[in-house]
Amino acid sequence: MVNVYVLCGGLIDLDRSGFFCDVAPGTRLTVPVICFLIAHPRGHVLVDTGVHRQSITDPVGRLGEPRANRFRMRSAATDEVVSQLALLGLAPDDVRFVVNSHFHFDHCGGNEFFPHATFLVQRPEMDAARQVLSGATLRYSPSPVDFDHPLDYRLVDGEHDVFGDGQVVLLPTYGHTPGHQSVRVRAGKGADLVLTADACYTRENMDRDVLPNVLWDPQEMSRSLANLRELRDRQGATVIYGHDAGQWQELVRAPTPLI
Ligand SMILES: [Zn+2]
Repeated sequence: MVNVYVLCGGLIDLDRSGFFCDVAPGTRLTVPVICFLIAHPRGHVLVDTGVHRQSITDPVGRLGEPRANRFRMRSAATDEVVSQLALLGLAPDDVRFVVNSHFHFDHCGGNEFFPHATFLVQRPEMDAARQVLSGATLRYSPSPVDFDHPLDYRLVDGEHDVFGDGQVVLLPTYGHTPGHQSVRVRAGKGADLVLTADACYTRENMDRDVLPNVLWDPQEMSRSLANLRELRDRQGATVIYGHDAGQWQELVRAPTPLI
């Protein structure tokens, strides 16, 4: 039996056109950054670590001026991963595994607070991140200040069953970034939960089959989006989108378990 808790890793005000490649700029919206705590009998798994807490009090210092203007922080003081875990009575050292869906700043900002956890990252994601550290310029901008810490990064190749029992499975959903991954949680028979992260920002992206502007490889992202849609529409999985403001309003959040 597993439980899943929804944590607020930040709130960001941004232009809607960043989410949909067919929408003109000019409308802003506030979206959640979501982290999840999965309580499995053999250990706690944290999915993503949100935006670094420094960005709440000092956004320009943490994010740099261009990024702080593009993504305006709307987080309350406790909308960061360590405070959110405390709602569950947990400290960072209670987390056994951290899954980074990818290395954008709003998904790995709190990595440094988990020095004793094992981080699970797709190999192509880390390969691209290392290229950037060596000075390469890619279509992808991972955030070194957030991921580049002496942490126990374990690389996985494609689908990965974290505990070997099918309950927490990492799904390769490449395309948004070179090695993006989503997570499937099997809470019971016919009760799958899929945490898409940025493989699908919102329900609208999936329903209208529209990709965002920020991506690594459109063909690959399109394939990943189709795979996630198949899980939702053919296999009956419940999907939690990466940054869906509407869904966020309805989500049961920590300390109450989602499942
Ligand atoms: Zn992203």
